Amino acid sequence: MNYDTLVLGAGIVGICTALHLQRLGQSVALIDRDGPGEGTSFGNAGLIERSSVIPHAFPHGLGRLLRYAANRRSDVRYASGALPRLAPWLARYWYHSSPSRLAAAAQMMLPLLERCLDEHAELTREAGCAALVRQGGWVEVYRDAGELDLAQAQATTVGALFSLDFELLEDEALRALVPSIEPAVVGAVHWRDPHSVSDPGALVKAYAALFVARGGALLRADAMALRQARDGWALASEQHGELRAANAVIALGPHSAALTGRLGLSIPLAVKRGYHMHYAIDERSVPRLPLLDKPGGYILSPMTRGVRLTTGVEFAAFDAPANTIQLDRAEALARRVLPLGARLDAAPWLGRRPALPDMRPVIGAVPRYPGLWLNFGHAHHGLTLGPISGRLLAELITGHAPVVDPSPYAPVRFKRG
Ligand SMILES: Cc1cc2nc3c(=O)[nH]c(=O)nc-3n(C[C@H](O)[C@H](O)[C@H](O)COP(=O)(O)OP(=O)(O)OC[C@H]3O[C@@H](n4cnc5c(N)ncnc54)[C@H](O)[C@@H]3O)c2cc1C
Repeated sequence: MNYDTLVLGAGIVGICTALHLQRLGQSVALIDRDGPGEGTSFGNAGLIERSSVIPHAFPHGLGRLLRYAANRRSDVRYASGALPRLAPWLARYWYHSSPSRLAAAAQMMLPLLERCLDEHAELTREAGCAALVRQGGWVEVYRDAGELDLAQAQATTVGALFSLDFELLEDEALRALVPSIEPAVVGAVHWRDPHSVSDPGALVKAYAALFVARGGALLRADAMALRQARDGWALASEQHGELRAANAVIALGPHSAALTGRLGLSIPLAVKRGYHMHYAIDERSVPRLPLLDKPGGYILSPMTRGVRLTTGVEFAAFDAPANTIQLDRAEALARRVLPLGARLDAAPWLGRRPALPDMRPVIGAVPRYPGLWLNFGHAHHGLTLGPISGRLLAELITGHAPVVDPSPYAPVRFKRG
């Protein structure tokens, strides 16, 4: 079998890469060991985060560091046993999170973020799944008056700097927008640009169905079998025999490092784990828009299955068993925000945000490996950035003029490990 490109990984990033390659005239095999959209892309909070222009940084300043070191928070938690292995990565993350480097990272991510809504809109229209996407933004809620003042001051600065559409909501206005909000919430910032998705897994599957409807090959195989061949790349698979192509794209999300490591590449990918759980809620109490409790680090999103709570970040070993501490902490706070009922899932879903220490994904060619391309490391914004990242990489592979300057995302920046 011969294709122009093998795209490894059918999450939001791989599927969008495959769709754009197809649009540019390539024959593409999209490969996953599971069904499409069943990895990290399945369980996220569903935000197409147009307003999150400042990347999620490592805390700077002694006071903040000490608060996180105590490990009692719900927004970030760490498993102490995992720290020795994670320390070098965390040190790099801390380095890149200094105010000046963070500001630079925000500017480098902006060209992608600015296009996220339009790129999704085109795909949802073509895939016939626009009904899964709601407009109106999301609401950042506060339970503490001091934190609210600080957040509203920051929102005013950031909103003006990046021309974002937002509104500061005091008590009454907030209750008009979210009538079921609990009395513990004292105010909010309503970010109005973003969109949100009522079932991220269904959205990704609809994109995959579009790829297949247009003649794409969606195949089950283990991407770890990828090897360099004389004329490109080959992947031996049980079901489909040997698949061959001039190009291969690694878009395995959090699993990408397993393959890049095997190929001898040094891309410092780590995972920021996170959980979700659905809750029953009275129909009249379902919020129209997702709510973010920033100090608590969790999001409450109205989803097809109920209200989905997604937690903040857990630093633990990749395959460490799921731990309910962070979800329990977030749930306790969330019950002060919305009148949540019983848990609906038998066990929490565990996902892994694929994260690079400089808070930018790798999108581009691998030096010294002709025909090998990377598209992963989108961390907190993979659902948001899948379509624009897929478009950018497809343009690079096919030699078209890239929609944005690709240099900030080039894998070559990690050449020295
Ligand atoms: C709790 C949580 C909340 C989040 N909320 C948001 C949000 O609101 N908005 C947002 O934009 N982002 C959010 N994210 C981040 C977002 O979900 C991820 O960045 C994104 O899903 C990554 O997509 P991906 O395609 O790179 O990876 P994945 O979706 O994980 O896809 C990788 C694919 O590779 C396949 N694979 C892995 N190994 C192999 C192998 N050996 N062989 C074959 N196939 C393999 C997997 O089966 C999978 O389908 C959240 C993440 C979490 C954990």
